[in-house]
Amino acid sequence: MRIYFDHNATEVVFTSGGTESDNFALRGVAEALEPTGRRHLIASSIEHEAVLVTLRALARRGWKVTLLPVDASGIVQPATLEQAVTADTAIVSVMHANNEIGTIQPVAELARIARAHGALMHTDAVQSIGKIAVDVRTLGVDLLSLSAHKFNGPKGAGALWIKRGARVTSIVTGGKHERSRRAGTENVAGIAGLGVAAKLAAKKVTTEALRIGALRDRLESEILAHVPGTALNGVREPRVPNTTNISFEAIEAESLLIALDLEGVAVSTGSACSSGTLEPSHVLRAMGLPSPRTQNSIRLSLGAGNTEAEVDFVVSKLPGIVDKLRSLTRTKVRA
Ligand code: PLP
Repeated sequence: MRIYFDHNATEVVFTSGGTESDNFALRGVAEALEPTGRRHLIASSIEHEAVLVTLRALARRGWKVTLLPVDASGIVQPATLEQAVTADTAIVSVMHANNEIGTIQPVAELARIARAHGALMHTDAVQSIGKIAVDVRTLGVDLLSLSAHKFNGPKGAGALWIKRGARVTSIVTGGKHERSRRAGTENVAGIAGLGVAAKLAAKKVTTEALRIGALRDRLESEILAHVPGTALNGVREPRVPNTTNISFEAIEAESLLIALDLEGVAVSTGSACSSGTLEPSHVLRAMGLPSPRTQNSIRLSLGAGNTEAEVDFVVSKLPGIVDKLRSLTRTKVRA
């Protein structure tokens, strides 16, 4: 992973995490470019809430917002951006990897289109940094959000990478910290932890991607093979190596989550940030999945600490749990 921290430190502004970085990118660019008349903002419809809710707030204040559709694989087709972008577009924000299904977006191609129309390109790389190699220059973006706790750093630390020359207004005003781009005393311990975690992640990203990818693939293929009525949501490739999202026919995802939790296995329905809500996933809905499938899907994600034995444990437990849940509702599912 090359984040170019050393390349040009002035391009990095430390924040409290991915949510603040996304807010900074969108609100900061919207405000900076407002006098130019560029009052149109574009994002994909499967962005994290940190982007979607921020855009909704800006829309209430008069900005025009377009959400790009995704195809059945959860990918933004560049042609949809070509159609949506105009001379009024200030910023295009499309995440690098999706947090629920793991699909990787064609960010470099989207960035080319955005820039051809004079718009800035932002990517939320919170889910890709530490999982795959990320290079801001190759992606061709102007702004990139990252969050330390997603690559084993401390919670409460993140950064927004801002390409030199990109016009972004500070959203936290006050003193002249961070070269007047984010006021307030820096979270030094968190930032130091972010730096160490980034260095370690950079060193082992390739080997870890292979190890975790193999574990994820085994988990996924065993579940799909041995639990009847299951299907993969999204595509196998291009995808970050740690995530899989599977639907279980005739199962309430929340019940499955609780049953697995009782076995000591943590999974989530939708994104971790929206867990606790019973709303169907906006990502699966945007992919056009039918309503039952948006409600019977769980996300399993693996990390540095996971082992083969844990994968085997989940695979051994799942068929029995699913059978039991289906028997409670007297549902028969064909193998
Ligand atoms: N963006 C994405 C894609 C995420 O997955 C998350 C958190 O899960 C965030 C932003 C928010 O990051 P943070 O928890 O650091 O605020």
